[in-house]
Amino acid sequence: MLRLIYGLLFILFFPFITTSQKKAEKQENLPRPKLVIGIVVDQMRWDFLYRYYDRYSKGGFKRLLNEGFNAEQTYIPYAPTVTAAGHTCVYTGSVPAIHGVAGNNWYNLKDRRVVYCSEDTLVKPLGTDHKSNGNMSPSNMKVTSICDELKLATNFRSKVVGVCIKDRGAIFPAGHTADAAFWFDSSTGRWISSTHYMETLPGWLVKYNDDKPVERLFQQNWTTLYPKETYTQSTSDEKIYEGKYKGYYSTSLPYILDTLGKKGNSLMAATPWGNTMTAEVAKLALENYAMGKDEVTDFLALSFSSPDYVGHQFGPNSIEAEDTYLRLDKELESLLLYADKTVGAGNYTVFLTADHGVAHVPGFLIENQIPSGQWNSTRAVIDLNEKILTQFGIKDAILSEQNYQLYLDTDAITEAGFDQSTIEKFIIHELNDADGIHTSFSLKDLGIVALPAHVKEMLVNGYNPTLSGHIQVILESAWIDGWLTGTTHGMWYNYDSHIPMVWYGWGIKQGTGYKKRSMADFAPTLAALLKIQVPSGSIGQVVEEALK
Ligand code: ZN
Ligand code: ZN
Repeated sequence: MLRLIYGLLFILFFPFITTSQKKAEKQENLPRPKLVIGIVVDQMRWDFLYRYYDRYSKGGFKRLLNEGFNAEQTYIPYAPTVTAAGHTCVYTGSVPAIHGVAGNNWYNLKDRRVVYCSEDTLVKPLGTDHKSNGNMSPSNMKVTSICDELKLATNFRSKVVGVCIKDRGAIFPAGHTADAAFWFDSSTGRWISSTHYMETLPGWLVKYNDDKPVERLFQQNWTTLYPKETYTQSTSDEKIYEGKYKGYYSTSLPYILDTLGKKGNSLMAATPWGNTMTAEVAKLALENYAMGKDEVTDFLALSFSSPDYVGHQFGPNSIEAEDTYLRLDKELESLLLYADKTVGAGNYTVFLTADHGVAHVPGFLIENQIPSGQWNSTRAVIDLNEKILTQFGIKDAILSEQNYQLYLDTDAITEAGFDQSTIEKFIIHELNDADGIHTSFSLKDLGIVALPAHVKEMLVNGYNPTLSGHIQVILESAWIDGWLTGTTHGMWYNYDSHIPMVWYGWGIKQGTGYKKRSMADFAPTLAALLKIQVPSGSIGQVVEEALK
């Protein structure tokens, strides 16, 4: 009888036991998202999240902001605030002083030449004959990226792909061990890669290129998404301080692009269609690498470069910039819907940020009574070298200006019988007399120079002893290194360093944070979320308030 009762109990509870056993077994597997999509929007100052908020659609920026976690006070921890250093910091949690990507370019004093951040003569270009566009790898990056750590943590079973119009926006994020990084060759209008990643370009990308994406997308020309008079967040369209497309007669929308033919390739990046093309390649990469399809986490490192090109040329207060963001919003919506469909809503994690912000166009600020101006580094170096030649008899004492730093010909100075410090003092005196320069100083004195601790810390983090120059220049607020049209970024000021930090999806809480956060916090937070090692050079902190 007792045996019968036990038997009945067993039959009754057996299904329960097995399902709970299954549950327990399931929970023994480490929970991780199937896919991470990192989105960098090149030059997206933090306020652009809200500047055009009312006209963003529900499924794009608003979906990330309203359903995800927004760390509102996130800043770049170093200067110069430029593209290569920014993308590298986001993915390594590190700063130029450590990660070695000290700028888009720097000057090599030994070889006496300007070095491009991702150049690599040991690799060959794939998909182009233009070596200057294709000889690229992350070899100048001295640390691991979060994508390298994901690869190491999964014994290289994770798939990692970087996609960006700019090579540097794909290469450094994807890291040393990526399956692929793809970027755009503006001389041929084709997406390319290098032998650092693979032997031949994948067939699907060759086909995409053969279908001539630039000519196809330029058939639409560039008219505003909504009637032009509704662009109330921007100054009127024809302004003398806006830059013109090469060979184009005006700075007013609409732009006629469908007649450009091959000439369109070089313009592509500076139109919203550059973002469209980037999103198309990203979706093809997700599909063809079968990303987010199995239990091993994959990583898509995606960066949209066109907002930067548009911003440089027309400025952040232009109708062109507003329209570019409204259209990018649609691309984001479409990308998220694509991930919902292929990976499953809730199965992937997204973060959105920028590599740096941007200053307003000086002409626009002056028009509105805000102090601003242009200091031109090329002109300044020519003038200074003339003065040094007259005074000290040294020819071309300043070899180069990169990242607001001057590189000196120390051999020539010694040969002429002068102390380096004598020439430095002369240059600093001249610079500090010039309009628009807040201060300049010898980088030898970086530890003792009289600057607020916050500014000094940013400069220390940006200073790489083997790559940086001899004299640092700091411009006044809203002064830029440039000519009469357009604008740029690169300084420590908040318009250049305040960036979005938005988290969304798997493992992310809904909310808003006002604690001060750093660009270096992305990588350690991803490491915590994915339960993988923190990148080797990371100095950031976990954004714990964003994690479930
Ligand atoms: Zn950039
Ligand atoms: Zn830029």
